[in-house]
Amino acid sequence: MSMMGAETQSMEQQVTAQAAARYWQATVARDPRADGAFFFGVKSTQIYCRPSCPARRPLRKNALFFQTTGDAEREGFRPCRRCKPDEIPAAVRIVQRAVQVLESDLDEQVNVGMLARQVGVTTDGLRRAFRQQAGLTPKELAAALRLKKFKKLLRSGSSITDALYETGYGSASRVYERSDAHLGMTPATYQKGGKGMKIRYTTAKSSLGEVLVAATERGVSAVYLGDGTPKLVNELREEYPRAEIVAQKGGFSQWVDEIVARAEGSAPRRELPLDLQATTFQRRVWQELQRIPRGATRTYSQIARAVGKPRAVRAVARACATNPVSIVVPCHRVVRADGHLSGYRWGLSRKEKLLARERA
Ligand SMILES: [Zn+2]
Repeated sequence: MSMMGAETQSMEQQVTAQAAARYWQATVARDPRADGAFFFGVKSTQIYCRPSCPARRPLRKNALFFQTTGDAEREGFRPCRRCKPDEIPAAVRIVQRAVQVLESDLDEQVNVGMLARQVGVTTDGLRRAFRQQAGLTPKELAAALRLKKFKKLLRSGSSITDALYETGYGSASRVYERSDAHLGMTPATYQKGGKGMKIRYTTAKSSLGEVLVAATERGVSAVYLGDGTPKLVNELREEYPRAEIVAQKGGFSQWVDEIVARAEGSAPRRELPLDLQATTFQRRVWQELQRIPRGATRTYSQIARAVGKPRAVRAVARACATNPVSIVVPCHRVVRADGHLSGYRWGLSRKEKLLARERA
């Protein structure tokens, strides 16, 4: 048996009939999301392409699929001149270039239009490349890069002030507001009802009334506001019916102090790790809420648009209403489109006071 024959055989075995059927569908659809996953070759011309190539499609019987460009070239196929499958895809190049630009200047504000110009593409082209390749917006990428650099600077011994300056964070409170969203919110690993969770709670006084703070080993899992400890503890038991819940007087006082200070309207001073059970959608909404600056408000539909589900306004309202960590995830900053405050689990007057303090 010749080498060529052996390779043809092994190559055909690499792509199962099932995969080939999927690949053919993506090829016919010119699906850009399939770029990189496989390449298709045309037997009659011995040319291979990316799935998104604009060139005419061969007959199904003339199409072959390869996992890598190397596989295609070993079979004697040459790269197409239109889609240049042997080069790095344009979207990847655009994102790589954007990362370089962002890393060289991590300014507080990312201007997408300006970034696009620096990368040498249109704003739409930049957004498209990000959607395709990175799964996040240029602003989210900038925030992630900033945070990464910030942590690296701190590890290397820079003072917080220097690190803040270097990474373009406006102030200390900014980085804490963001790090909640990026670092602290741990994924839901517990079963519903808090089975297997050990939750400790403590209460403190504030001008908004009693504050109950509950936490696991990993972070804060509930912040309730109300008028009496027994009622708040009952709510906690209802929220986590299967968890082990114990009082701990004076526990995790740094977290409690921070939360009470925020309830009084102070800017964040320290990071608060969170340990929340949440669906993916709730998580996205809560993270979005953490991006609302102090002193500002958003409407439910603005949040729905921001999480990429413009029609899920009611689901957003539900996610806000079920936020277990008031103040830390600032659901009080969401208001109705007509400017009215709308509901707040802990009472409208508390919402009103919180907003007035943060604006002051
Ligand atoms: Zn092509």
